[in-house]
Amino acid sequence: MRYEGPIYRPPSEADSLLIQATIGCPHNRCTFCMVYKNGPRYRARPVNHIKEDILEARRVYGPHVWTLFLPAGNTIAMKTEDLAEICRFARATFPTLERITVYGSSQFIHKKGPGQLEELARAGLGRIHVGLESGDDITLKRIRKGTNARQHIEAGGWLMAAGIELSLYAILGIGGQERTGEHAEETARVINQIGPDFVRLRTFVPKINTPLLEDIMAGRFQMLGPHGVLKETRTLLEHLTISTTLTSDHYTNYINLHGRLPQDKPKLLDQISRALKRDESEYRPFFIGTE
Ligand code: SF4
Repeated sequence: MRYEGPIYRPPSEADSLLIQATIGCPHNRCTFCMVYKNGPRYRARPVNHIKEDILEARRVYGPHVWTLFLPAGNTIAMKTEDLAEICRFARATFPTLERITVYGSSQFIHKKGPGQLEELARAGLGRIHVGLESGDDITLKRIRKGTNARQHIEAGGWLMAAGIELSLYAILGIGGQERTGEHAEETARVINQIGPDFVRLRTFVPKINTPLLEDIMAGRFQMLGPHGVLKETRTLLEHLTISTTLTSDHYTNYINLHGRLPQDKPKLLDQISRALKRDESEYRPFFIGTE
């Protein structure tokens, strides 16, 4: 198997076979993201090279592979017929395969439209991890996410209708002190309208070589402290009305929340209330991420 550039995968794909179908990110403008800022530039790999890697994985690991993740920032941006062919080939090569998963941003999902998403679902694409980050249009514009709340809602709705599992990521604190209320409420509103299978929380940590770190250093962006993040999480949770799995499976978070909504909401809110009683100095210190 051949890999190029930074290789990231969600924690939930820790046991998955990783086969690279695309390299880099076709957007590469988010102000908080350092992953591909130094390259490589986005491109899709030739389908025959991807198939060679799948066959090599079959030789190395045998036929019993259960989950496959196709890493890189926006593999959903690949041409639909090529991605569908890779999915069909992988399912034929590994008959026990239960899930094929990719990362994707709403603008690239939106470009495909409902018909192409259904085609991908039929080919065996089973789950997509989408960086919602926020449902607040002002925040989305400031972080240069390249999409907006309306597009998030339409793209998410089409994925759900196509039968592709949807895992949405929200970044706590990404609106800073100025937008924390709007960020929490609008993010909940957008999530409620989409109704994803999973909501995954991440806490904003500034990364080296990013425009947002420059804004922090120049005093243009005021970060939330631990209590601010916890209060924002409480507002978000209070406004979520859908049935979904909420989890914060990431090292950046101040507390680990995990449960089914709506039934676990009181328990999770109680966990946040207890966390707010702890002094801020008891939480992890500010740090600048390097990877
Ligand atoms: S779309 Fe994802 S990988 Fe690309 S720049 Fe934004 S956060 Fe980074």
